[in-house]
Amino acid sequence: MLPIQLPEHVRSLFEGQFPVPVVDIATALDIKMYTTDDLSPSQSGVIVKEQEDYTIVVNETHSPERIRFTVAHEIGHFLMHKDILDEQRSFISDIKQPAFLHDAEGAMHRAHDHRLPSKDRTLELEANKFAADLLMPKEQFTKVWDVSNTIDEVAAFFNVSISAATVRGEQVLNSFMV
Ligand SMILES: [Zn+2]
Repeated sequence: MLPIQLPEHVRSLFEGQFPVPVVDIATALDIKMYTTDDLSPSQSGVIVKEQEDYTIVVNETHSPERIRFTVAHEIGHFLMHKDILDEQRSFISDIKQPAFLHDAEGAMHRAHDHRLPSKDRTLELEANKFAADLLMPKEQFTKVWDVSNTIDEVAAFFNVSISAATVRGEQVLNSFMV
């Protein structure tokens, strides 16, 4: 099931489609999207508010799988952090791609994410969690995981990076044990 943060009319349009069409979902939410080669290599993307328009700009030098994660992450900011987005006008996100580092709670983050003030880090982690939920819904992930021989197959099914699929696998398997 697609994340409950998505409005019902958007969920019902896209429920059950895999790989999840993140760009179409952004469009359905009235978010504009551009690619650029102007961001620094560590920056995945940004969501900006100008007047009443919201625009996601993604780093076109990144892999298509990583760009999909970035779009999903920015949609997460749009849906969950709109008040902050409206106030500060943008989220610049350079810590989005899940890596293999884990903090004490098991949440994923990248090595340089400790540079961020903890409030920003929480927002980034929430957006990452949303992106994983959107791209790899739990029930579907479990089904695909069960019938796949390798993590590469799982990643290919969802059109995500292998590291994103690996982190999701850890999350989903861990949640079976709680
Ligand atoms: Zn972000």
